[in-house]
Amino acid sequence: MLQPSKQMTASFHAELYKLIPEDHPLRKINEIVDFTFIHDLVRSSYCEHYGRPANEPELLFRLLFLQVLYNLSDERIIQETQVNLAYKWFLGVNPEDNLPDPSQLSRFRNHRLGAGAVDEVLKSVVRQCIEKGLVKSKTIIMDSTHTLAASQKQKPLEVLRDAAKRLFRVVVKKHPKLEKKLPKLPGLRKDQEDAEKIMLQYLANLGETVELLLPDHEGSISEKVRIAKAIVEDERLLANKGIMSAIDPDARFGWKSNTKSFFGYKEHIAMTEEEIITAVEVTGGSSDDGKQFKELLNQTLDAGIEVHEVIADTAYSGKDNLEEMKSKQIQPVVPLNPIVHNGGLRQEGFEYNKDADFVICPAGQHSIRKAVQGSKQSGNSRSLVFYFDTEKCKACPLKEGCFKPGAKSKTYSIRIVAEHYQEQIEFENNDTFKERICRRPIIEHKNAELKRYHGMTKAKYRGLFRMRIQAILTTFVVNVKRMIKLTEKMQSAS
Ligand code: SF4
Repeated sequence: MLQPSKQMTASFHAELYKLIPEDHPLRKINEIVDFTFIHDLVRSSYCEHYGRPANEPELLFRLLFLQVLYNLSDERIIQETQVNLAYKWFLGVNPEDNLPDPSQLSRFRNHRLGAGAVDEVLKSVVRQCIEKGLVKSKTIIMDSTHTLAASQKQKPLEVLRDAAKRLFRVVVKKHPKLEKKLPKLPGLRKDQEDAEKIMLQYLANLGETVELLLPDHEGSISEKVRIAKAIVEDERLLANKGIMSAIDPDARFGWKSNTKSFFGYKEHIAMTEEEIITAVEVTGGSSDDGKQFKELLNQTLDAGIEVHEVIADTAYSGKDNLEEMKSKQIQPVVPLNPIVHNGGLRQEGFEYNKDADFVICPAGQHSIRKAVQGSKQSGNSRSLVFYFDTEKCKACPLKEGCFKPGAKSKTYSIRIVAEHYQEQIEFENNDTFKERICRRPIIEHKNAELKRYHGMTKAKYRGLFRMRIQAILTTFVVNVKRMIKLTEKMQSAS
């Protein structure tokens, strides 16, 4: 049950709040930012008439805000707030008041905000910036950054075994009498060749048996059944390319650069030139940046930003993205990349990674060098050629149809089709493009701020759903910080 927001009655001890300096950052934030929007956002997630009175959503949201601002855990933020005058003042409680239990923070985050409201949190701060006249530019800059998963990468056999053990354990814990009815974990020899297939079959059987015995399963059993199903149905699992953790099945393996890889998530971000983040999309680490373009643009437009120009790297130069910008009369300041704008790779199983600028083959090997064949004058006969290590190809189990025995090289070629993009190619060569593309690195500073000061280097929680909440709350906080800076700048200029 949600109670109407109550007015705090200052106690005798509230006199202590006079000790908080006038220029304390939390005083400025409290004065400039409106947090009351949260009441309407989460209202529908509370029962109107039943249940105990809920802690005020604004108090819990302000606690989440402090938690991200100072990069603390649920437990630590409650401990710190209990003894920090400025934090307590910011929450609107008296110094002697008790604070909610840390478990209420995760419940609020996952059940109240997670239930559809979290997107609106970001929009709300963007709208406040627009209302205050802080956003003047009609340009958005797009990029992505990565966050390491909260779990370790596992081999396919470990994923299968771990998922099976976790499902078995949770069922037996809740229904001990079912233990004898569940299939037993198969014993496997260390060097057993078909171990993965046996374990895959076992996990499938276990999942089906649980569903048969407990057709109305819920809570943690449902969660483990869902994970088991996703693992069994993942065609890329055994090729070591799909699910790589039974604990965090949404995390994926991706590349940061030619030599550095990571296991986790990607946050795709759009930002104005004033450095206000207008859109966030979270995906597994392997996902293609360019595919998030439409979503980022739509979120930005929805938040009320007018967009006349998009600045981004080559990953966003896909044909569909360029057409979308053209249809909305948006100028793309996006360097063309033939692999991206020609619609990707044609041969199944080969993938291009723009951060690393190499092609990954179906066996998971990446190209070792690339070259352009043909001169600029030869037009459509120009190709981009990626070379693979033939020593690895010789020993590859997938070489049939891919690598001819005795061949001196193994290559993958992409024809460079230029004529459809003539207009963009000409624009790329003019001074306006060169000047505007120089604005792109400012988004990298923003990514660094998210990571260095607000915990986005590593996921705090598991799963895409929770990762998304973490990303949006973090962008809310960095937007608030920026809002304060821009407001002070505006005030000192007037
Ligand atoms: S033959 Fe070479 S390029 Fe083809 S799948 Fe095997 S390692 Fe990759």
